[in-house]
Amino acid sequence: MAEGIIIKAISGFYYVQNDMGLYQCRGRGLFRKKNIKPLVGDNVQFEAENKEEGYVNQVFERKNELVRPPIANIDQAFLVFSAQEPALSTAMLDRFLVHMEAMDIEAVIVVNKMDLTTTDFLHPYKNVYEKAGYPFHIVSSRDGTGVENLLPYLTDKLSMVAGESGVGKSTLLNQLIPSLDLETAEVSERLKRGKHTTRHLELMPCNSGYIADTPGFSSLDFEKIDEEDLDICFPELKEIMPDCKFRGCTHRKEPGCAVKQAVDEGEIAEYRYEHYKQFFEELVQQRRY
Ligand code: GDP
Ligand code: ZN
Repeated sequence: MAEGIIIKAISGFYYVQNDMGLYQCRGRGLFRKKNIKPLVGDNVQFEAENKEEGYVNQVFERKNELVRPPIANIDQAFLVFSAQEPALSTAMLDRFLVHMEAMDIEAVIVVNKMDLTTTDFLHPYKNVYEKAGYPFHIVSSRDGTGVENLLPYLTDKLSMVAGESGVGKSTLLNQLIPSLDLETAEVSERLKRGKHTTRHLELMPCNSGYIADTPGFSSLDFEKIDEEDLDICFPELKEIMPDCKFRGCTHRKEPGCAVKQAVDEGEIAEYRYEHYKQFFEELVQQRRY
């Protein structure tokens, strides 16, 4: 019995990769009955019939899974924003970061389109996020500046690229995977159509890891997060909150709140704290309906 990872799934076939090669597999009746649908990114046990074909017998437990695109076991996301066009939104960035924490996905922040503006205004943000433990890179995907600094993160991980529409995710993927040739906004404009998404999701080997060849989530809502767990999705709050006077402190109005004190003393960025409170309110409102 062999093990491998599903790198693509097309019309009932699962393409399983391991050191021995790529196997076109069908699913065995056993887990099909159990209603487990294997996903790209799944680690599986399979039986090779020959050097190219086999049967998937078992899907190993998933660390996480996304619906769109359908993919499992993501270790890491490059969260792409642009410095300009559209302007950087830290509210959106913090929202993405909360989701990554909740799904146990490591985040690498990438601010793209540095060629469009001076990047001095980004340095305070870089400080804030690096202090919270997030790598922060300023790049230009159009000309490739700084993109090489992202490659080391790929090693041994399953990565994806995420971010709002128009920030340059496709352009960045084309830089990271030179063989890819994804359609970018310019291309679709030239062809006078919306971006085509007929391609099949596929994991591409890159720097001893895999990267999904399709941009991932571009928008998010908070459905699966409990407001009581929001603070641990902000690493700098998580670090300091054991010092709060009350257990279960929500860091809003409680006395003796170490988080609030750290904000007053400039240890925690005010805007990050404001976003925390804003998201908290949102989660409470959501629960009411
Ligand atoms: P996506 O929607 O996130 O996949 O974004 P695209 O990759 O399609 O890029 C959106 C637009 O931004 C296109 O016109 C790209 O050419 C442009 N773009 C992407 N990266 C850069 C960059 O680094 N600098 C500049 N000036 N434009 C970029
Ligand atoms: Zn507190």
